Amino acid sequence: MNSTNEKSKLWSKIRDEILNCTSCRLHSYRRNAVPGEGNLSADILFLGEAPGRREDELGRPFVGAAGKLLDTLLNDIGIKRDEVFITNVVKCRPPNNRDPKDDEIRSCSRHTIKILELVRPKVIVTLGNYAGKFVFEYLLKRKWLGISRCRGKVYELSSTELGSVMIIPTYHPAAALYNPKLRDYLEYDFKLILNTMKNLRDMKKRKSLLDFMR
Ligand code: URA
Repeated sequence: MNSTNEKSKLWSKIRDEILNCTSCRLHSYRRNAVPGEGNLSADILFLGEAPGRREDELGRPFVGAAGKLLDTLLNDIGIKRDEVFITNVVKCRPPNNRDPKDDEIRSCSRHTIKILELVRPKVIVTLGNYAGKFVFEYLLKRKWLGISRCRGKVYELSSTELGSVMIIPTYHPAAALYNPKLRDYLEYDFKLILNTMKNLRDMKKRKSLLDFMR
């Protein structure tokens, strides 16, 4: 399943499943489900928490105030939004923006896993505690010690669903809107993303040079 065409077909199927999903209570509150968007062959996938009001109105991820900050952080490290893939651990807006519940995250995980298997990112950036906990504990069976202890590092891990993958946990951009001190940590973590991508690009170049010389 590598051709762009096959990926797009599979993505339409996954999107339709999400748009019609009634597996958990959140479907009854939504205006629009928010499956996610971006480059289906992206090296980086951003995993957020849940759609907010604006995302629910438009059916697109990170288009409200937190999305503006995400766009700025990406722009500051020279990465375009359409180069990456963006989705959330739950695809429907929780009522009054409450936190997503464990059973909702679990129920939506079948969609999240299909997206991860489709995109096969080399790097997953988890935004906030819920996304970090989901990737560490649910997918990778690793202990999650909370966002403030786990952020600021790159983890090279692997699982059957994801293959080998780097995880960069960071704060949710919305948290920095309420607590501006967190912005410095986010900026530091986005530099880690940039360096990781540079290393990946260098490795790719070295590999193709070696292949060429064989
Ligand atoms: N917050 C999220 O976690 N996801 C969105 O899509 C928007 C805000």
